[in-house]
Amino acid sequence: NRNFNIVIVGGGSAGIAAAASILKRNRKVSLAIIEPSSDHYYQPGWTMVGGGVFSKEFTRRDESRLIPNGADWIQSSVATFEPEENKLTLSDGARIGYDMLIVCPGIKLDWEAIKGLPETLGQNGVTSNYGYNLAPYTNRLVKDMTKGRALFTQPPMPIKCAGAPQKAMYLSCYRWEKEGVLPNIDVQFHNAGGVLFGVEAYVPALMEYIERYNAHLNFTSNLVAIDGERKIATFEQKDGDSTKRVEEAFDMIHVVPPQTAPDFIRSSPLAGETGFVAVDQATLQHTKYANIFSLGDACSAPNAKTAAAVRKQAPVVAVNALSVLNGGEAVAEYDGYGSCPLTVERGKIVLAEFGYGGKLLPSFPDWLIDGTRPSRLSWLLKDTILPPVYWHGMLKGREWMVKPQTKRAA
Ligand code: FAD
Repeated sequence: NRNFNIVIVGGGSAGIAAAASILKRNRKVSLAIIEPSSDHYYQPGWTMVGGGVFSKEFTRRDESRLIPNGADWIQSSVATFEPEENKLTLSDGARIGYDMLIVCPGIKLDWEAIKGLPETLGQNGVTSNYGYNLAPYTNRLVKDMTKGRALFTQPPMPIKCAGAPQKAMYLSCYRWEKEGVLPNIDVQFHNAGGVLFGVEAYVPALMEYIERYNAHLNFTSNLVAIDGERKIATFEQKDGDSTKRVEEAFDMIHVVPPQTAPDFIRSSPLAGETGFVAVDQATLQHTKYANIFSLGDACSAPNAKTAAAVRKQAPVVAVNALSVLNGGEAVAEYDGYGSCPLTVERGKIVLAEFGYGGKLLPSFPDWLIDGTRPSRLSWLLKDTILPPVYWHGMLKGREWMVKPQTKRAA
């Protein structure tokens, strides 16, 4: 049994960023990161892998190289939480004690929820940018396609990077347009939700591309099964008060899996009603346990689940966790910022940036980047600037771009 001042569950975007941010502020705390995987992924790059812009290797690094100096890496999975005793249990039965716990194991991709999907993923024209080894298959399928029907699906919310399902479609269409084959391809977007994008300000620019690419929008149409060999996808569609099942033949289908809180979170005392870790949406402090914080995709805050959100959340959690550890209160607040760079064509992006309640929170003045319009500079940001900002800024705790707002003096 081991004990630490601070234990972080998950060494993904949120876990590494939070650890680095804490250790920048206080090098004296003992801090452990519990993370089973030897690999760390820059998932925002996967859209670009599917689009044939990045190699998949560009989005992976060894976890061991990212664990900040001064942190212990426990390479294992957390199985259960015992918050009343300030302890947790690993999958091998070992127990770890903490003064302060930070929970960020991400979101679960529920491939099994779609009947027939796991068996056929990565073959028969069935792909997804939501997997490191799958995104290159998107690139190959799009390159080879010259005619037929291409389906792109979006499951019910919440999902990480809500724009990613349509980004895959736009980048595919752009390539088909360039090759002159777009008129031979029937492009269908099936969205379990009822709108193209949750923040209205960005919809007009997106609709221009929907029209340009002649993509057909099917709302409240939820993928429930795939028969890979017959190349048939089954959707449940709202029809007034009832639902009907519709079968669609495809030549390629880009699937975004349904997503839920990880099982060990959902079944733990930390979970709120939705299954995610129940936190105050401003301080990111647990609603019941004062010495627990959560950030990233696993927390209940209603922001857009993105790495961009994590970039702003990590310093808020660092300030608040250290303050509470020292007997103070959670003083820093997060405004719900999240960002979704919508890759509408290769070379242009509609840069959605917004906070709680859909409030627009642009990082740049309008004359430089108007987020509601397609922009070349935004593409440069995604293609060239943001990956190093992630590896060398966010994961190192360099926060020149984010100053946590405090409601009271710390
Ligand atoms: P993750 O980075 O997923 O890390 C979770 C970690 O927890 C993992 O390392 C996992 O191994 C670990 N873990 C899981 N279970 C356990 C356990 N039991 N015990 C211990 N550790 C555990 N964001 C953007 O900002 N912009 C984008 O353009 C963008 N595009 C995206 C496109 C795609 C295709 C995808 C998939 C994501 C995209 N995102 C984007 C979202 C972004 O990647 C996530 O929001 C971000 O990675 C969340 O960080 P996290 O640390 O919460 O989760």
